[in-house]
Amino acid sequence: MQQTLWFDPKKIFIGGAWQDPGNAATIAVEDPSTGEVVGEIGQASADDVDKAVAAAQLALEGDWGRTPAVERGRLLTRLAQLVKERAEELAFLESTDVGKPMKQARNDSVALARYLEFYGGAADKLHGTTIPYQEGFTVYTLREPHGVTAHIIPWNYPMQILGRSVGAALAMGNACVLKPAEDASLSSLAFAALAAEAGLPAGALNVVTGYGADVGRALSTHPGVDHVSFTGSVLTGQHIQEAAARNVVPVTLELGGKSPHIVFDDVDLEAALPTLVGACIQGAGQTCSAASRVLVQRGIYDEVRRRMAEVYAGLRVGPAAENLDLGPLVSAKQKKIVSDYIVLGKSELTVAAEGVIADRAPAAGHYVAPILFADVPPDHRLAQEEVFGPVQVLIPFDDEAEAIRIANGTDYGLVAGVWTRDGARQMRMARRLNVGQVFINNYGAGGGVELPFGGVGKSGHGREKGFEALYGFSRLKTVTAQHG
Ligand code: NAP
Ligand code: MG
Repeated sequence: MQQTLWFDPKKIFIGGAWQDPGNAATIAVEDPSTGEVVGEIGQASADDVDKAVAAAQLALEGDWGRTPAVERGRLLTRLAQLVKERAEELAFLESTDVGKPMKQARNDSVALARYLEFYGGAADKLHGTTIPYQEGFTVYTLREPHGVTAHIIPWNYPMQILGRSVGAALAMGNACVLKPAEDASLSSLAFAALAAEAGLPAGALNVVTGYGADVGRALSTHPGVDHVSFTGSVLTGQHIQEAAARNVVPVTLELGGKSPHIVFDDVDLEAALPTLVGACIQGAGQTCSAASRVLVQRGIYDEVRRRMAEVYAGLRVGPAAENLDLGPLVSAKQKKIVSDYIVLGKSELTVAAEGVIADRAPAAGHYVAPILFADVPPDHRLAQEEVFGPVQVLIPFDDEAEAIRIANGTDYGLVAGVWTRDGARQMRMARRLNVGQVFINNYGAGGGVELPFGGVGKSGHGREKGFEALYGFSRLKTVTAQHG
């Protein structure tokens, strides 16, 4: 890696100190743009997870637990400042680790700083209430942290996801144990070093790296964990929820989606076009809220198809450093998953257009050309399953009722985009879509730190981001005092 790191990626961060992980074996860090190994990270053991949870508990009993809300806010604000100072380096680190074009990785470091700023400002703004009760009583509620919160995050937007979940948890006074994905741990380690520099008390944030099946599992099943925040696949989310059920602790699950754009024939197509495509191919399609389905009213279907196909034909894929429209996928494993879907699509569906992989893209990089399929039946696997790659499907519809039926007709329900100039229709659609977030004449895959985010159905439950997350990362105590 052509960058001097300010932390040792082979160590883990527990109780404010960098430690050697219990396993001597390391995990290779691969640059998806080249397929080359550019470093290694440590592999924590179940013992390390015990230590991290114990360090978090100690922090709650000690300095961190006694830190007033206003001071927690100041610490997060200081941390936001350090992230801003390192924004370019963090972006480069992420770009090398997960293959994101630099312009997208820069957005992620800016978003991380913004989450910390937002939650820094919010830390002392959430409070309990007094409740009118019987004569002679005073009743009030207290907002308290859960205690130790576990944060298991994926590889697609590590900085944004750690920002939204760890940021809100720390604001409410929880002590965090963060387990990043094995494919994307560098930014979490870099973040831990900055947290220490900002003066976060020891044990308030701990980072353990390693494989999900052992470190992730040890953390999510740990009896000392009081709340689990998970973003990733449905299958792993089910394991996490089962473990949380056994320990009877709350869990927030953000499990992806099959989110639709719904384009009516009165759309301002010129304005919509870049977003119709961009909301899917951002992050090379590896975005939980990617708009992977485009439902188009029949009257403008041919025109939308033609215009989107033109955009697709101009899309270029290449190494992250070249800042093209798309970088590589994160890993050979992800490329295989996505390529299998494309093979299936090509054998059963009509290809409207494909993008181009740049000639100079290294052969060992994990590149996939973005592809748009037309006239896709709503029950086709490509219209139902999350591909997590740059694959978008066009589906025609006749009227509002059919659009709603198709839009709501998957197991998921994360986000939807409604494109129409008809105000009454905007309001009707917003109410009838079974999703956690509706965008009207815009679509911000992943964006907007202020906006509560989360799903229904197999997209998960609980809300992160925005002020709302602070309720999820705290619990309410009711105090009833009789004083005559
Ligand atoms: P995943 O298995 O759900 O991984 C997400 C996180 O969970 C990672 O930190 C992972 O660690 C950890 N993990 C894995 N198994 C675990 C277990 N048994 N207990 C606790 N933690 C565990 O997702 P993936 O395998 O990376 O990707 C597979 C598919 O998931 C993708 O193709 C995509 O469809 C979906 N996905 C969705 C999102 C989203 O934002 N909703 C993000 C990523 C992936 P390791 O990575 O170290 O194993
Ligand atoms: Mg990597």
